[in-house]
Amino acid sequence: MKSDRAHPVAIVGGGFSGTMVAAQLARKGIDSVLIDGSGRAGHGVAYSTREPAHVLNVRAEVMSAWADDLEHFVRVAEGEGGNRRDFVQRQQFGRYLRGILKAGMDTGYLRLAERQAVEAKPINGGWTMRLDDGEEFQACGLVLALGNQPPEPLPFGKDSSRVINNPWGGEALAAVEDLAESHADVLLVGTGLTTVDAVLSLDAAGHRGRIVGLSRRGLIPRGHADDMVPVPVEAEDVPFGHVRTLWRWLRKRGAEVGWRAAVDSLRPHSQRLWQTFPPEEQRRFSRHARPWWDVHRHRIAPEVAQRLHDMVAEGRLEIIAGRIQSIEEKGGALKVAYRRRGKSNIVEGRFAYMINCTGPLGRIDRTRDELLKGLLQDGLVRPDPLGIALDVDERSRVTGAERAWAMGPLTKGRYWEIIAVPDIRGQAAAVADDIETELGR
Ligand SMILES: Cc1cc2nc3c(=O)[nH]c(=O)nc-3n(C[C@H](O)[C@H](O)[C@H](O)COP(=O)(O)OP(=O)(O)OC[C@H]3O[C@@H](n4cnc5c(N)ncnc54)[C@H](O)[C@@H]3O)c2cc1C
Repeated sequence: MKSDRAHPVAIVGGGFSGTMVAAQLARKGIDSVLIDGSGRAGHGVAYSTREPAHVLNVRAEVMSAWADDLEHFVRVAEGEGGNRRDFVQRQQFGRYLRGILKAGMDTGYLRLAERQAVEAKPINGGWTMRLDDGEEFQACGLVLALGNQPPEPLPFGKDSSRVINNPWGGEALAAVEDLAESHADVLLVGTGLTTVDAVLSLDAAGHRGRIVGLSRRGLIPRGHADDMVPVPVEAEDVPFGHVRTLWRWLRKRGAEVGWRAAVDSLRPHSQRLWQTFPPEEQRRFSRHARPWWDVHRHRIAPEVAQRLHDMVAEGRLEIIAGRIQSIEEKGGALKVAYRRRGKSNIVEGRFAYMINCTGPLGRIDRTRDELLKGLLQDGLVRPDPLGIALDVDERSRVTGAERAWAMGPLTKGRYWEIIAVPDIRGQAAAVADDIETELGR
């Protein structure tokens, strides 16, 4: 293959996914430009939090950023006085990632462009990139590592400053500060990991009002157990093929070895398991089973689970399964009418704020990201068959595009479990290898 390295590889998104592809390329002596204008390059959304109460969802021992050096983060954490079994602060992991980014930049092969990418056009087997300050440059390949797209705005309270649609933005931080002073009640829409973060932030800020978390099923992430013993499962015993078979298998095995060990035993097989589901089974899983799967599979640190439990017991936190019926802003508060699941009467509550914690956007064609929107409109990338992310092949190459790869949550239609560090680090190494092969040595 002809060598083509006159231009750098453009990597859009400086979270864990983009940073690790850039770091892998730098090790290979391949130039790249890592583009991220959010101010979070080298951290991404998950690890840019400054809140000490926000800890990793898994122990330090599984969080190495390098697929070929699984003890890498343990060494760093131990060097900072930690322990491999700790659930360390997410900001500590952010510092670790930033160190990896800096080491990549020190090689001279990695340039950081702290701008948003707004356009990518194919040209001569490569790409022309345009950034939001007008800078244009040629790239020999494109890696889309834009992460999960922010949630769809809530369908009510569009003009109200009390309805906060971005749980990671400045408005949410200001609302937490305001609530910590007023101790007013707050409604969190959604009951997943974003809600857990919001509850911890409120608690740490000293808020003593009532927090209500509301979602259709009212399922909240479960905690890890210190005494869980892993019970691996062989590939031939994995219930490939159908959601119902998987469910039956999980119930039976859960009764034998405990639900945590049963769920975790599928982890090494989860991508293949997903790929054996026919499209209608994938749809069925996404619609009905995913909320249950997510809260059991993506668990939280035991101390975090305990804190939530205590807050429920103290009457400070209530998790409700239900649906919002209407919202009205009145007298400096939101009057929210909702119906509990399985009940017909309408309940009313008054809240100072409502925060959108519904999690990532479920339909990629509704993205508000200018670059992604343009690529979709121009037919240069297309949604996967479920419409949740981008269509990619088995090498994470974007279907139909030349020299374009996608990473992490943008590939979840193909891989399903590709949102956590252990999955993404392997993908980053594989994509960097594939880029090296494509560009020629
Ligand atoms: C709150 C939270 C806690 C988590 N905790 C854990 C954990 O404990 N353990 C674990 O293994 N996993 C955890 N995860 C999951 C996981 O680590 C992340 O989902 C993963 O890091 C995804 O990284 P990413 O780089 O793909 O996306 P992101 O971190 O979202 O980064 C994408 C970046 O791209 C930028 N971007 C988007 N569009 C453009 C554009 N047009 N131009 C330039 N830049 C752009 C964004 O601003 C962002 O900075 C957590 C996730 C969250 C949200």
